[in-house]
Amino acid sequence: MSQAQELLLQKEAELIQLLRSRDGLAIEKSADPMDEIQRATERDLAIRSVDRDSTLLRQVRAALQRIDEQTFGVCVDCDEEISPKRLKAVPWAQRCIQCQEAADQDRQEHAESLDDSILSMA
Ligand SMILES: [Zn+2]
Repeated sequence: MSQAQELLLQKEAELIQLLRSRDGLAIEKSADPMDEIQRATERDLAIRSVDRDSTLLRQVRAALQRIDEQTFGVCVDCDEEISPKRLKAVPWAQRCIQCQEAADQDRQEHAESLDDSILSMA
């Protein structure tokens, strides 16, 4: 087993455990309104981190699949090899640094233009 695979499997197990431990949060209810607000905030935070963790889990699993398919370490956008340094830091990376930056930029611009359209509707 490669080191990356080992790291990914470890991360996968860790995320599954994290996501499971948060399962109970969403159903708890309280009769006390103040308590209810507090819980709603906690729920909100928990849901947001569940979102983040499930996205990460998907990326980790996709990376494990790429190991199986022997395409691990190759950028999904430009087919160049991802630097070993980057893979060591982020074993589930699917893009080289250049493509990742371009993708982040795209997303940011998209988010900004989305904000603009919401503002112009107001
Ligand atoms: Zn690339």
